[in-house]
Amino acid sequence: MEIILTVEWMKQVSRLARGEGRLSGLVPTMGALHEGHVSLIRAAQQECSPVTASIFVNPAQFAPGEDFERYPRRFDADAALLESLGVEYLFAPEAAELYPPGFSSYVKVEGLGSRLEGRSRPGHFRGVATVVLKLLEIVQPWRAYFGRKDAQQARIIQQLVRDFHLDAQIEVCPIVREADGLALSSRNAYLSPEDRRAATALHRALGAAQAALGRGERNPANLAAAMREVISAEPRAAADYVEVVRADTFEPATRLSGECYALLAVFFGTTRLLDNMLIVEAGGGFRCEI
Ligand code: AMP
Repeated sequence: MEIILTVEWMKQVSRLARGEGRLSGLVPTMGALHEGHVSLIRAAQQECSPVTASIFVNPAQFAPGEDFERYPRRFDADAALLESLGVEYLFAPEAAELYPPGFSSYVKVEGLGSRLEGRSRPGHFRGVATVVLKLLEIVQPWRAYFGRKDAQQARIIQQLVRDFHLDAQIEVCPIVREADGLALSSRNAYLSPEDRRAATALHRALGAAQAALGRGERNPANLAAAMREVISAEPRAAADYVEVVRADTFEPATRLSGECYALLAVFFGTTRLLDNMLIVEAGGGFRCEI
């Protein structure tokens, strides 16, 4: 595996692969890799060659006072893991390489980017969209892989690609979970043992919405209420938002149809975790992907 630190070098490698007509894949990450990231790498390897993984803790997507400084950084272990998986390139620029002095252009996905996560974390999606646009420009992948764990982020990136006529195809991969249902996240490392146990409330809440759906409940407000009940019953949990939204706009769903997301953002202590379930209208009923 080649570790690439500069934009110029990465662009040169990408140009070469493109010139040879190769279908390259990109998996953007912030490192502290876990099985969720590994699933994206494997998905990319099924379809692409070469595969580039990026590790970049993007300062632009953290607000002052968020966890940028203490975000887990485990470069050597991550690089060894990527190497063992057979990843061809690891793009790992320093912050000053992507944001040199005088940097002043940002991308903002309006509407979609201002709701839910965008509302709770002002500026977050502007940072995400900006860095993903850069990565797509630098690596020029045929396909880029994102996790459904960050469903709103994935939707925003699809919008960015559409709005700027970018060539990359965006693939959204399923959520990888621990045995007890907790979605894998680099931020799970922040949880105390008590909060780690309590954090199963996220998955249990989604299960409650799924069960209600199974009983014939079709009102999105009642599905959200079923989730809120589970979160409220967990004393260590404090809900930020618990919503059922349309998967295309991320606006509140007034009725279940097409594709919707049941979405949660919940604090356990100071750690804020996300989870979601995709609800798909199919064959006269609804199917859930947790
Ligand atoms: P991050 O390093 O947290 O920025 O995540 C990098 C990519 O991995 C994003 O596209 C995430 O949505 C995805 N990802 C994170 N956790 C999971 C998970 N548990 N299952 C699947 N994908 C994930």
